[in-house]
Amino acid sequence: VIEIGQPEHSVVTTCAYCGVGCAFKAEMRGEEVVRMVPYKDGKANRGHSCVKGRFAWGYTNHKERILKPMIRERIEDPWREVSWDEAFSFAATKMRGIQKKYGRDAIGGITSSRCTNEETYLVQKLIRAGFGNNNVDTCARVCHSPTGYGLSQTFGTSAGTQDFDSVEDTDVAVIIGANPASAHPVFASRLKKRLRQGAKLIVIDPRRTEMVESPHVKALHLPLMPGTNVAVVTALAHVIVTEGLANEAFVRERCDWAEFEEWAAFVAQPKHSPEATAILTGVDPQVLREAARIYATGGNGAIYYGLGVTEHSQGSTTVIAIANLAMATGNIGRPGVGVNPLRGQNNVQGSCDMGSFPHELPGYRHISGDAVRDQFEALWNVKLNPEPGLRIPNMFDAAIEGSFMGIYVQGEDILQSDPNTKHVVAALSAMECVIVHDLFLNETANYAHVFLPGSSFLEKDGTFTNAERRIQRVRKVMSPKNGMADWEVTIGLAKAMGFEMNYSHPSEIMDEIAALTPTFTGVSYAKLDELGSVQWPCNEKAPEGTPVMHIDGFVRGKGKFIVTEYVATDERTGPRFPLLLTTGRILSQYNVGAQTRRTDNVVWHAEDRLEIHPHDAEQRGVRDGDWVRLQSRAGETTLRAEITDRVSPGVVYTTFHHPDTQANVITTDFSDWATNCPEYKVTAVQISPSNGP
Ligand code: SF4
Repeated sequence: VIEIGQPEHSVVTTCAYCGVGCAFKAEMRGEEVVRMVPYKDGKANRGHSCVKGRFAWGYTNHKERILKPMIRERIEDPWREVSWDEAFSFAATKMRGIQKKYGRDAIGGITSSRCTNEETYLVQKLIRAGFGNNNVDTCARVCHSPTGYGLSQTFGTSAGTQDFDSVEDTDVAVIIGANPASAHPVFASRLKKRLRQGAKLIVIDPRRTEMVESPHVKALHLPLMPGTNVAVVTALAHVIVTEGLANEAFVRERCDWAEFEEWAAFVAQPKHSPEATAILTGVDPQVLREAARIYATGGNGAIYYGLGVTEHSQGSTTVIAIANLAMATGNIGRPGVGVNPLRGQNNVQGSCDMGSFPHELPGYRHISGDAVRDQFEALWNVKLNPEPGLRIPNMFDAAIEGSFMGIYVQGEDILQSDPNTKHVVAALSAMECVIVHDLFLNETANYAHVFLPGSSFLEKDGTFTNAERRIQRVRKVMSPKNGMADWEVTIGLAKAMGFEMNYSHPSEIMDEIAALTPTFTGVSYAKLDELGSVQWPCNEKAPEGTPVMHIDGFVRGKGKFIVTEYVATDERTGPRFPLLLTTGRILSQYNVGAQTRRTDNVVWHAEDRLEIHPHDAEQRGVRDGDWVRLQSRAGETTLRAEITDRVSPGVVYTTFHHPDTQANVITTDFSDWATNCPEYKVTAVQISPSNGP
């Protein structure tokens, strides 16, 4: 323990872990953080926090942090520390060389949902305007891209409908494919408080999560088989429609009635009844009927969902099915109801808002729209390519085919976090220039030619946008240890590539975002300082932001019902791989653990374990604590077994916080039909006893 002493001053900033977006007071002594205190006026957290935000910021000072830029000609060569100028010049020469040799579209980049809105905006600007193509994608591709697709199709906007305060008016909370007690703990506490006041809870999840097991909370649990979300949500709709529980007055007023009728006729078919789908879904028909009745008739019904919905081959279909359910019951457009994606990373919402998808400019406007492109071209002083660029999986495929040879990856360890690790290795190995911009030499950096040191959230100004569309300030509490904040690094790289971007402070970047993005026109650092935060849309119509959306009408006009046919994933169990693996998180770790594992509290560093039902364990001669070999069609890894009835027979579960676990060696290539979001949550596996790794 280093004795730092009493704080001398404090700075209010925003947690850089999950999508709750807790505000903290960083209490400082000089350039050292003494402690992080949850900020009582934080609109998302109201003075609360979890262990990650409060105690897991020590990675900023971790000895493995890289503070000097490094380059190497080949990945077999040792790294060589160089000046920032030399690193930028080396990277720019390589990237421009690739474009000369293979064409303008042979390079691209990936933005990070960990970085600020301003940094994300700059990376997509560099790619569209500096690289001259639209080969920009975001790590949100592999988590919440189906949310964007599904909610924009049905409601007209790619975001959750409510603020967190709304939970205080909720009578029935439905959690689908999420475990907020572990992944969004401060929101979970607010929800539990409401449940203790009498609100009902329905949990649709293959595993009996901490929310189900929480004391003083009586949850109705629907333990479905992984991969059957659409069948379960359609069966809920079947009950609502066939028992006359739909809110037809709401639908007639707010939605397209003809589309509703078509959808209602579809879900009413006997093949969608709880009884007909029970064998497929594994859910007791009576429990499912009870859940549908409670949601439709229990007052204000709010749906909260997570990656257990999106990371499936039918991720987008499930989001649409959920939206249908909310519209059919009139649970949209007032406090206490809604469809609320629980975003995993601190700035998933923001990175999507900022134009990180290859087909969309900031504000979710399609790149092919002439009028929209005209605005950006006028301000950026360039001609933009109207063709959508490559998504992340397409970039990897093109690299292996030899047509995509250079990538700039900001704040994302794609080798660990993307599916089918072997495929990612093959793609990175084929590229002639991989630029990694990160705090640590991550796994992706093993295949990099340029390493640009990143800055932590404590070292820069900017904004994050949380899961409730709340834009909050990130404030610099210390100088960047690497000498440059991330937004300055992107500007440096752009300049070396011949594309000037001139900003002296991130507030100027936000001013440009506001000038170009209709949902942000009222946003400025001055307003954020004055109000604490605002929720977009924030513009002339809503100068102080919009906590609840779709109040008087849906953003798209009439709410759109879309028929959602269940299609089984191509990942099938069989004699060789008879079990289904699904994954999740623990409270004290964050994603692949790059930051949380680099904090001092070793108590948190529990290994990833494989949960297995007693019946399946006994059949395989596996005892609690034994090492087991976990094999799928894609690969294998070794884990310790934890025997528990939290999972049903036929289902196994693990977390993915440690690099040794290599969960993504196991996962498949299957992905969401609409967005290519990988199907992380369903993998057919076999388990056998092992002597250890
Ligand atoms: Fe940070 Fe999320 Fe924990 Fe809040 S709940 S402190 S935002 S990790």
